[in-house]
Amino acid sequence: MHSKEQLLRELKAQAEQCRRCRLSETRSKVVFGDGSPDADVMFIGEGPGKQEDLTGRPFVGRAGELLTRIIELGMGIPRSAVYIANLVKCRPTVDMKMLRDRPPDPEEVETCAPYITRQIQIIQPKVIVALGSPSAKFLLNTGVGITKLRGTWGERDGIPVMPTYHPSYLLRNGDESSPLKRDVWNDIKKVLEKLGRPIPVKQKGGKK
Ligand code: URA
Repeated sequence: MHSKEQLLRELKAQAEQCRRCRLSETRSKVVFGDGSPDADVMFIGEGPGKQEDLTGRPFVGRAGELLTRIIELGMGIPRSAVYIANLVKCRPTVDMKMLRDRPPDPEEVETCAPYITRQIQIIQPKVIVALGSPSAKFLLNTGVGITKLRGTWGERDGIPVMPTYHPSYLLRNGDESSPLKRDVWNDIKKVLEKLGRPIPVKQKGGKK
């Protein structure tokens, strides 16, 4: 019997050799995903950015700092206890020039899909949080955008999926009093309820 850890290690080794699409030609590192193989919650973003490409770890740039705050301060869970991955494992950039990030295109998502699908199968989380439109559309197999989808439970292979805004979108559009932040907090509360976890009390002036 292979452990989840072993299965993920083998899949990661495969991804590190992957040349199935053009994103492999410009990448520095494959960003496979990281966290606990036994995680109850899995967060799925769209694709690596600059810092992720350089380090090989998901969500380590500015959006990653915000996601880490949501997980640790908002949910009261150590980041190391969840699992974080992306739809595509190599950094998509405009004109493949490695200067400006862009969302993965549908063909890149389709080509890379076996990796995230297998990660979900191995980890079998109790809940998946889809971060942003490409992730929600892929996981829920729909053309509907994130504004409509967020806050409502969907399902992927029998696993409940909560779509919410991507942390980069919050950074671009939200100040401290932004309704977008409140929306994300409401979505996260639903995730905590589904997991049967306590809802941490919001600190006044805190960074949630
Ligand atoms: N945005 C994503 O979708 N994923 C990352 O890993 C970083 C930023």
